[in-house]
Amino acid sequence: MEHKNSQIAEELKGWIDKKRMRHSIGVSRAAARLAVFYGVDAEKAELAGLLHDCAKCLSHEEMLRLCEEFGISLDPLSMGDRALLHGPLGSAIARKYFGIEDKIILDAIYCHTTGKKGMNLFEKVLCLADYIEPGRRFPGVEEIRSLAYSDLNRALLKGFELTIRHVLDTGNKLHIGTVEARNELIEEISETRKGKKKTENEAAGSML
Ligand code: FE
Ligand code: FE
Repeated sequence: MEHKNSQIAEELKGWIDKKRMRHSIGVSRAAARLAVFYGVDAEKAELAGLLHDCAKCLSHEEMLRLCEEFGISLDPLSMGDRALLHGPLGSAIARKYFGIEDKIILDAIYCHTTGKKGMNLFEKVLCLADYIEPGRRFPGVEEIRSLAYSDLNRALLKGFELTIRHVLDTGNKLHIGTVEARNELIEEISETRKGKKKTENEAAGSML
């Protein structure tokens, strides 16, 4: 795996610039660490982290050309925005040019920017790693880092809320996936709280 990843990293240099490469290595390490902590496949998380931004440095023109080549046709918002498009396109590039066939990796790359309804644990790990890798510096990042190893859902919720706020502040359109992901995280967090309360009450009850 080590060897395979260094080969992939070498090839990746043809797709992204040095700054993006540093970020990608940071994300791959952060994703592997989170994966071990939360019990998902760390080798796959490392690979997903390495490749997640493989489409990020392409021009919009090049992106649209590749979308046509791969038969990718998304909603107008995603097609018109490089920042939104690099996830789905990156997933297709990871498959066609890097030979990744593993659906869990491809799906996580696909939704890493926007999030989506029904995110699995692996997708959450990649998304969160993208927010907290050591090279990231933005107001609020420390809070996300401090939550990352105690409450994955709350850490990710904080990340999506910062993203949503930024999108609003810059006057851009919100992707529906981010809104749905946020709503679902709120649900999951409140379910977990209820679950905890119930267990506490049961424990207190059994002590009587
Ligand atoms: Fe990205
Ligand atoms: Fe990224």
